[in-house]
Amino acid sequence: MRIVLLGPPGAGKGTQAARLAQHFDCPHVSTGDIFRSNVAEGTELGQIAKQYMDQGDLVPDEVVIAMVMDRLSSPDCAGGFLLDGFPRTVAQAEALDLNLVAQDTPLHSVLCFEAADEELYRRLAGRSAELKRSDDGEETIRHRLEVYATKTRPLVDYYMHRRLLSIVDAVGHVEDVTARILDALDAARLSDRANGNGNHAVNGDGHANRHGRGYQPRSGAGAVADRAAATLRSR
Ligand code: AMP
Repeated sequence: MRIVLLGPPGAGKGTQAARLAQHFDCPHVSTGDIFRSNVAEGTELGQIAKQYMDQGDLVPDEVVIAMVMDRLSSPDCAGGFLLDGFPRTVAQAEALDLNLVAQDTPLHSVLCFEAADEELYRRLAGRSAELKRSDDGEETIRHRLEVYATKTRPLVDYYMHRRLLSIVDAVGHVEDVTARILDALDAARLSDRANGNGNHAVNGDGHANRHGRGYQPRSGAGAVADRAAATLRSR
């Protein structure tokens, strides 16, 4: 399976990615983890990334894209991967598409985790106290959520337009959220078989709804996705 996990900081992507990687027996590729280990080792990449991470800003696209493409070219990713924290901008998503289309290994699914802002603040503040992450201070948390809303949230429309998206309610016990994800992936697979592929929303009751009923697309979806499609067509 080639899966992307999208969602705001604090939505539980890392926890779920680790569980899913075990379930599907494929590598968990977390850009945040790669950056943190480079920071800890004091590499040049770590020194560049740290300036941005400490402010709650995104590391520049060219740095992240080169790093992820290199990671995905490793033999252990040949059978599939779980991308956690990438892409985070439309430019990153386009670069990923171009790379995967070139290898004839397109994404199977994109899962977007949703939780209310108050819940995200609560979780991130708890994590700050527990793990002392340098980017979990109050101001930085607020900024990271703003960066998500402006830079990353447009990817919901991008992937919805491509009919790859499942929205997952990220609130609840870890096991329940994992079960919702597996339901969403099953629903996407069934719908793939029936009519091409399709977007889904899985609510807290575990019911998967096709978009159009369970999910309202945001405005501007067409512009972002059409630009991406045009990029691919012009190759
Ligand atoms: P995370 O652990 O995924 O929340 O990532 C921690 C930090 O690493 C982010 O706040 C960014 O500074 C940086 N980072 C991780 N992934 C990306 C990405 N795809 N693009 C840009 N910066 C990233």
